[in-house]
This record gives sequence, structure tokens and C-alpha cells, in this order.
Amino acid sequence: MPASDMTVPSSVQPPQRVLLGPGPSVIDPAVLSALARPTLGHLDPAFLVIMDEVRSMLRRVMGTENELTFPMSGTGSAGMETCLVNLIEPGDSVLVAVNGVFGTRMAEVARRAGAEVTTVEQTWGRSFSADELRAGAGGKSFKLLCIVHAETSTGVLQDLVPARAVADECDALLLVDCVTSLGGHTLHLDDMGVDAAYSGTQKCLSCPPGLSPISFSPRASAVLAERRTPVQSWYLDLSMISNYWGSDRAYHHTAPINMLYGLHESLRLVLTEGLEERIARHALHARALVAGLESMGLTPRVAADERLAPLTAVAVPDRARAFLLSQFSLEIGGGLGPMAGNTWRIGLMGAGATRHSVTLCLAALRAALTEQGQDPGVDPLLAAGATYAS
Ligand code: PLP
Repeated sequence: MPASDMTVPSSVQPPQRVLLGPGPSVIDPAVLSALARPTLGHLDPAFLVIMDEVRSMLRRVMGTENELTFPMSGTGSAGMETCLVNLIEPGDSVLVAVNGVFGTRMAEVARRAGAEVTTVEQTWGRSFSADELRAGAGGKSFKLLCIVHAETSTGVLQDLVPARAVADECDALLLVDCVTSLGGHTLHLDDMGVDAAYSGTQKCLSCPPGLSPISFSPRASAVLAERRTPVQSWYLDLSMISNYWGSDRAYHHTAPINMLYGLHESLRLVLTEGLEERIARHALHARALVAGLESMGLTPRVAADERLAPLTAVAVPDRARAFLLSQFSLEIGGGLGPMAGNTWRIGLMGAGATRHSVTLCLAALRAALTEQGQDPGVDPLLAAGATYAS
């Protein structure tokens, strides 16, 4: 067909969704508007100021003084890969705690980076105790112990105290996935003794997907500096990228300028709200959601003492999700792995962690259950409302 006969698609007009799934989350309009500001060159002095502000706000949000702290270009998986490829050399022994999709992914990335990987497995939907991690380590030494702080695939929060203790026993650096916990759960990298961490922008930071904040402690930075072999990935090589984010400002790759404006705005919003206030907000709305779900006879998959606030997994048939999307323009997540088909994952993250989201979600789920001929019991909004009133 001649090019002149081809029609050009119209400009994208995405439907307005309420994103209450496992991410991306609802984006604050202030972040969307920051993304649309004029693009600068990646070495423009005005952009360098923005970069410095992003780094300094990121340190505050991650609870660290680590020099090597900045957002990598790419989604959370790029952050995961960055941490692993920079710390692993072929033949290194790495212990990975696996209780969901993202621990499984870390083990796979570590293997591809040439590590001898030992996994310690836990039932999906449960966190690890020190004894379970210790048993997995089997008295051996490891270069890294890798663990997920907030397993988005199952809704489990991992206590990092036992992870740090067992890492010490095996002479290991502690590498933590905090993609879903950053900005939604208490996370203080320095106080918690985390050596390397990565996150993502599209969860509790409420920024679109596309950047992955990472941080390396002085110990992890020393391991990087003492490598015998080059980092297997050129694009993710922190020894080069840190020259761009540091005082040299040496070009490595073109920074995703407008995404960094978006992250700048979302970090500003986190700090303006206050970290503790934001974490308390996530906890409050998660409690109200669970109260409403339980009043409809829906059972959370994870025990209360190891349940995430930003993501609630609940045992139900999968069929209602299409109804929620078509009737309410509301997105929630389905289950993954062993939870596929029998679990919903409801995210209340960042700008989505509000009473309005909880109310909409519960009302929509009630309608979905009724439509399927199930008796949803008492009005869940009463149970949620009682949580807000208490
Ligand atoms: N780790 C966790 C805990 C996640 O929830 C995700 C994404 O949902 C990732 C890693 C991977 O991040 P991305 O999908 O942004 O690459």
C-alpha cells in the first residue's frame, strides 16, 4: 500500500482508570504536570541542579547517607539487575530468599550474572524467620544475601532484622528489593543495615514506571571498586554511571530527563507530606480495606502480622476483575504463580491510598460479587467506616 494511502492513528486518548492493582499506581496530577515541562539537555546546568535535588531527596526518603544513591534509567527490574551485576563476579556464592515472583527473579538474574546461587524457599504468602534463613544458609559463607522487603506477588512484608542477622553470620552483604515498600512502609537503609537496595517509581512513590532508585552502602561500594572483572552489563555499570551523577558529570547515556522531573515532584510530595505520615496513611487505608473485605466474607491471604499495607492479597475467584474494569474503570491485580486464578491483589499505593479508593473498591467488589450471584453480606462501607471512626 502506498504510504500516502495509510491512515495515521489519532493521538492516544487512554481511558481514565483508577489504578488499584499491584502497580503502576494512581499518579498525582502534580507529577503528571511536571513530566510535561520543557526538556533540557542532560548536561544543562539547570538540569544538573535538578539531579542534585533528586539525589538528596532520594537519600532522605531511603533513610541513608550513602553517596552512591540515584535513580537508574529503567523500571524496578533494571534496579534489581543493577544491584546484582555490579556486586556479582562469576563464581561468587549468593543466597537468595524466595517466597514469591520477585525472589525467583532475583535468583534467575544472579545465575545469569554467573553466581553460584543457593535459594532458601518459603511458602508463598509467608515471610522468613531468622532460623529459616539460617537453615537455608547451611553454615556457609556468601557474598550476598538477597531478599524482598515487600513481595508484591503475595502481599508479604519481610522483617529485615533477621535478614541482617543471618547476613552477618554468613559474611554477606544484604541486598534488599524495596520496590513496593519505599514510601509505603518504614524503610531506613542505614539503620536497618542494608548494603544495596533498589526500588521503582510506580508504586508508593506514585510516579509513572521508568526509573529505579538504587543505593549502595560504603561496604557495597568498596566491593564494586575492588572488582577483578568488568561489570557484565555496560549500560548498568555503576562505576561509569556514578561519574555522571557525581561531580565529574561525564556523559554515559542520555538521562531520561522528563522522567526525572516526575520523580523530583513525587519525592517532593513525599517529603512535604512527611514520611511517617505517609506510612501511617498507607496503614490506615489498608486496615479499612481489610475490614470491608472481611465483612463481605473475603479472607486476606496473608496473616495480619506479616501483611503489606500497600498491597492486600485476598482469596477469591478471579472472574470479577473484568467486571470491575468494564463497569467501574477500576483495575486490581490477579494472582501470580500458585495464586493465579484464586487471588485478587488490591494496591493502595501513594496517591491511591485514600478513603475514596477504599470506598470505590469495596462498593465495586460488592457489586461484582452480587453480579456473580454471591451474597456479599453486610455493607462493607460500614465496616470500613468504623475503622476510620476509631
Ligand atoms: N520487585 C518487586 C517487589 C516488584 O513488585 C516489581 C514489579 O512489580 C519488580 C521487582 C520489578 O519491577 P518492574 O516491573 O518495574 O521492572
